[in-house]
Formats: sequence, structure tokens, C-alpha cells
Amino acid sequence: MSQVLVLVEHGDGAVKKVTLELLTAARALGEPAAVVVGPPGSAAPLVDKLGEYGAATVYVAESPDVEKHLVTPQAEVLASLLGQTSPAAVLLPSTAEGKEIAARLAMRTRSGILTDAVGVDADGTATQSIFGGAVVVKSRVRTGTPIVTVRPNSVTAEPAPARPRTQEVEVTLPDAARGATVLERVVEEKGSRPALTDASVVVSGGRGLGAGENFALVEKLADALGGAVGASRAATDAGWYPHQAQVGQTGVTVSPQLYVAVGISGAIQHRAGMQTSKTIVAINKDAEAPIFELVDFGVVGDLFQVVPQLTEEIGKRKG
Ligand SMILES: Cc1cc2nc3c(=O)[nH]c(=O)nc-3n(C[C@H](O)[C@H](O)[C@H](O)COP(=O)(O)OP(=O)(O)OC[C@H]3O[C@@H](n4cnc5c(N)ncnc54)[C@H](O)[C@@H]3O)c2cc1C
Repeated sequence: MSQVLVLVEHGDGAVKKVTLELLTAARALGEPAAVVVGPPGSAAPLVDKLGEYGAATVYVAESPDVEKHLVTPQAEVLASLLGQTSPAAVLLPSTAEGKEIAARLAMRTRSGILTDAVGVDADGTATQSIFGGAVVVKSRVRTGTPIVTVRPNSVTAEPAPARPRTQEVEVTLPDAARGATVLERVVEEKGSRPALTDASVVVSGGRGLGAGENFALVEKLADALGGAVGASRAATDAGWYPHQAQVGQTGVTVSPQLYVAVGISGAIQHRAGMQTSKTIVAINKDAEAPIFELVDFGVVGDLFQVVPQLTEEIGKRKG
């Protein structure tokens, strides 16, 4: 069975959830092989988790150079592995970084690329949701090795324990890959909430909140559900919430198990970033709001009455 290379996203000694989703998707296409690119010592703490989700091989590409350059080390390592292993496909997370690595890899190896897939079938057919989700496209790469980026949260990660063998891979960076050097890294201070793109529950607030301080309602609901907080562009443009939380065409794309839209009308640009969510709930006082076209459960009502009651009820049920 051919290998399917999966680029591992990791940080702080842990595998990011999207990698487990990619390993799950990879199993349909061939034998999953995880590729860890990082500074020396970064792979060892990850191997067990990667094995738990079916990685039969873990390629370890460690070098102090990795942290000095953005994306090029990953692209170089994958290009070299692609030459050595002739995999059935390469899967990467559909993040800004993952897509850039995928594009570089596709150029380097003259392969076809599909980005923002929300699913990959056993025959390599990828499903994409485009034009703000109005159209579903099925595509298959016909040139070179299929390189597919998969949106976080579109595949449910399922364990399939394997005992991975590890194999070291040399990190060789030609001059062209050293063109830009990272001078400093500033780590964003994180609260206790999950990251927006990883979260299985996202509660987003929009202009209906009326003021930045009312985002406290959204935060309390998100905390009751163990979720992340998102926002519409109207809310972030108004300075009510940080731009990093913007969900939509020009913000982050999320695909959680549960998306709760609070005081958001459901403009096409917002829908583009959340409509592949598994269950969508909206609270809006306007029964005609377009968001209600895509909800699984809608509440027509004043968010200032509904959200506190909902948060309280969830709190009670959690005991
Ligand atoms: C090129 C481009 C890119 C864009 N990218 C994005 C993007 O990435 N993300 C994004 O979100 N937008 C984006 N937009 C903006 C988008 O078109 C909308 O303007 C925006 O999503 C509207 O945000 P909203 O739903 O919060 O506000 P509104 O459309 O003003 O909706 C507010 C909603 O709150 C409801 N409401 C008001 N008061 C209450 C209350 N008390 N209780 C309950 N409900 C209440 C109203 O009925 C209304 O439906 C983009 C626009 C353009 C042109």
C-alpha cells in the first residue's frame, strides 16, 4: 500500500488536533506516514499520539534551521520525501501556513494541488465548498502527486492504533529556501479558551450585541460550552473584538461540531467561514435574517434575554 504523507502541525510538545483529522482522512487513501519538521527533540513527544491515530511511519526531520525560516523547511522536507517515497498523496492542514507549504510543494514537484478540501474520498476525490458555500465541488488531481489541504474540523478524528517506526530525514535547505530569516518570535498570550480553528464549539457575536462590552455574554456562553469566541466583521471593524476572531471570507474559516451565531445576520461573507459547521444555531430577533436559512436550530428573540438564560441552563445541566 502506498504511503500518504501527512504534515504534522505541532506546538509545545503536542500534536495539533488537525493532524489527527488528517491522519484519519489519510487512512482512506493509503498508509498514513506522519512528517514532523521541527527543531531537535521535537518529534519524540509526538510519536505515541501519531501512532494512536494510525501513523505507520513517522518521518523525523529535525534541525535548528527549521525555526530560522518560515515554511521553506517543511516544503523542502516534503519535496525530498515525495521523491523518495512516491506517496499516493500529501495531506496538509488548510491553514495559511499549510496552504503556502502546499503551493510551494506543488510547484517544486509539478503536482496538482487542491486547497480547502472538506473531505477526501478513497479514490483521491476531494470535496470543496466554494463561492461562500453556495457550490460543492468534487475534484481529483491528475498531474503528479495529489497535494491536498484539508480544513480543520472537517473530518472527525478517529483513533486506529498503530506502532509507528520512526525514520530520520535530513533537512537540507538550499540558498533559495534561506531567503527570509525569522529574527524574533512573539508568542501571543492565550487564555483558557480553545483556539478558534481547533475548537469543536464556536460562539460568535455580531453587530446585534450593540457594544464591545456585551461580548461578555458571548464569552460566558462560550465558556459554558467549552468553546472559542468568534465575531462577525461588523463586530471586529467596530473594535468590539480582536480581528483575529473574525469568522468569514476575509477572516478565519471554522468548521466546528457546534456553531452558535449571536446577533449575526448571516451575510454571505460570514457564511463562507462557518457554514460547514456540523450543527448551526442562531439567535436573532429578525425572523427574516438570512442566517436562519442555514441553521439547524434557530431562536427568534432578543439575544439579551435569550443568551443569559441559555448560559444559565447549560450551567445547571452541567451540574
Ligand atoms: C469583501 C468583503 C469581505 C467581508 N468579509 C467578511 C468576513 O470575513 N466576515 C464577516 O462576518 N463579514 C464580512 N464582510 C461583511 C459582511 O458583508 C457583513 O457586513 C457582516 O458580516 C455583518 O455583520 P453582522 O451580521 O454582525 O451585522 P448585521 O448584518 O448588521 O447583522 C446584525 C444582526 O443582529 C440582529 N440583532 C440586532 N439586535 C439584536 C438583538 N437584540 N437580539 C438578537 N438579534 C439582534 C439583527 O437582526 C441583524 O440580523 C465582508 C464584506 C465584504 C464586502
